[in-house]
Amino acid sequence: MSPVRMVRTVNVVNLCFFGTLLLVSLTALPWYAMRVGISRAEWGLFLAFVILTGCSITVGYHRLFAHRSFQAHPLVTLLNLFFGAAAFEQSALWWSSLHRDHHRYVDTERDPYNIKQGFWHAHWGWLLFWRSAPDYSNVKDLQADALVMHQHRYYLLWAITAGVLVPLAIGAATDHLLGAFLLGVVGRLTFVHHSTWCINSVCHVFGRATYDIDATARDHWLVALITNGEGYHNFHHRFASDYRNGVRWYHWDPSKWLIAAMRWCGLARKLYRTPQHAILAAKAAAEHQRIERTLGGQRVTEGPRLLELVRERYATLKAALYEWERWEKEYRRLRETLSEASQTSLLTLKEQVAAKRLACREARRVWIALLTSHPLLARAAQV
Ligand SMILES: [Zn+2]
Ligand SMILES: [Zn+2]
Repeated sequence: MSPVRMVRTVNVVNLCFFGTLLLVSLTALPWYAMRVGISRAEWGLFLAFVILTGCSITVGYHRLFAHRSFQAHPLVTLLNLFFGAAAFEQSALWWSSLHRDHHRYVDTERDPYNIKQGFWHAHWGWLLFWRSAPDYSNVKDLQADALVMHQHRYYLLWAITAGVLVPLAIGAATDHLLGAFLLGVVGRLTFVHHSTWCINSVCHVFGRATYDIDATARDHWLVALITNGEGYHNFHHRFASDYRNGVRWYHWDPSKWLIAAMRWCGLARKLYRTPQHAILAAKAAAEHQRIERTLGGQRVTEGPRLLELVRERYATLKAALYEWERWEKEYRRLRETLSEASQTSLLTLKEQVAAKRLACREARRVWIALLTSHPLLARAAQV
């Protein structure tokens, strides 16, 4: 177990850097917008850099480096390191090391952005009034990557080139140098920083606990909207290796769409997806626990009858999910050792898996019908 790495001390460099960024964004930027006006080219630069650097943090730093939820072509790795450095959130190695600790020791003193120390500590207090002692024992896999190590060793060179010189060069070429500095560098950094930090603060306080009711992590659609899909944080803490954070097809998660598009182009492979039965099991367990806790603590006449019904239907759903999982595991095992098995038995197993999945859907439908049949249950389960 790694030692506590956060040391309480005013981080003067961070305090000046992040403080100045916010101050200029709140004063000089509005002044420039009112006195000079913001041109289309400046808005374009701002948006392009918000998207490029934001996605390099969510797709690259977070899902590729910190969680290894997919494998990337070297070109993708390079671009993520380049524009990730431009976000001025430190090197991918440093970022991933702290983030792995966040997941491993969440809500304890070993968690770098521990929400139990307060909303603002989790947001940016941990960067301003604490210093992290380097301990890279949890990122040995990343240390084996020469490109990652180059970005780590020469981080400032990468960050200033990608995050300052490139937008300024574009500004100079389009005759908008001051606008490029205020929007393409300062305003963009402030937006990307604070939206990223909202995941550690807002998403550990507000929102829905869809898959794990005991976690402080929450699913928050608004944070998902400004962070390329990272706001589905309850799902993410429950299934951290999944390349998706917004697991439903309609969830706003451009990062997962980008990763899927890269796979389609041959730039990404081995995307990890949590099995559907595991996701449904976690969701049903959360709904069930919420009902047990809510109804168990209330003196409602029909409470015991409702609880009995809930327990019965939940047991049926759990059994159906278990069957689906069992047959799917068997199918995967056989598929991997195909040389020993005949194609016919594989097909038979596939049909069995499909049948179990259908049975699960039916059990889930009956479960949801029960939960929505009574206002008490619907409120307790939050469906
Ligand atoms: Zn978290
Ligand atoms: Zn994570």
